[in-house]
Amino acid sequence: MTVAAAKGLACVCGGEPFAPLFTYASPPPGEPRYAFALGAYRREVWRCQRCGHCRAVHDLDASALYSGDYVNTAYAGDGILRAYDRIMALPPSQSDNAGRVARVVAWAERLPLPPGRARTILDVGSGLCVFLSRMKAAGWACTALDPDARAVTHAREVVGVDAIQGAFLDVSGLGRFDLIAFNKVLEHVQEPAAMLIKAAKHLAPRGGLYVEVPDGEMAARAGAQREEFFIDHWHVFSAASLTLLASRAGYAIQALERLQEPSGKYTLRALLVSISEEAR
Ligand SMILES: [Zn+2]
Repeated sequence: MTVAAAKGLACVCGGEPFAPLFTYASPPPGEPRYAFALGAYRREVWRCQRCGHCRAVHDLDASALYSGDYVNTAYAGDGILRAYDRIMALPPSQSDNAGRVARVVAWAERLPLPPGRARTILDVGSGLCVFLSRMKAAGWACTALDPDARAVTHAREVVGVDAIQGAFLDVSGLGRFDLIAFNKVLEHVQEPAAMLIKAAKHLAPRGGLYVEVPDGEMAARAGAQREEFFIDHWHVFSAASLTLLASRAGYAIQALERLQEPSGKYTLRALLVSISEEAR
């Protein structure tokens, strides 16, 4: 989203009342130094005055971020395998993933899935694949999807799950799953609604989506330096905007939770079911 385009920015709530919230002339402390943002640094975060949804506004070209730069930068210190081992070794009280897996397993019980077979899950943007490692241990049949070849090889060879390389909007022949997970993914894409709309085509009957996004309402109260507003997030959500986005993409929110995770992240997480499916 460029500065010029931001003037007429439409929100997921349908309104156009965006206004500047934060301005950055240098990276906030702790922000990864992605290659695309190493030049002149200037960006803003704008917030919808109606629903609280936040959007990144800058002229930087981040289009190649997830085909290499993201993994290069995010795991530069120790590489995928050591980052995976380090997070897998965290005690449950310090692990965002432990809480996530517990919540997914509990919420999946609310879906009227047929008994007597293993549950299937697709994790979009699987990254280190810590989440699917634990879901596999919980008895689920797991498929990882990631645009980075190293993340896919790691998922297949280290974690031992099915894995596909690609961007979710581009890949075909994915099949259908009881649950599709978007763990901290929708904030990284320009058009999150398109992701949710495509996901409906890959849901098994009576399946659902598990969605986690940064919580901009709580983070904004803590200030501009919060990681929820880092440069790789095009969108930062509110409880209202996540609900409205889901609705516009054809889903109802079956469960919604707001929390601060052990890592300190402010997070919204939700279970979404297809509206057409609900009407049956
Ligand atoms: Zn709005």
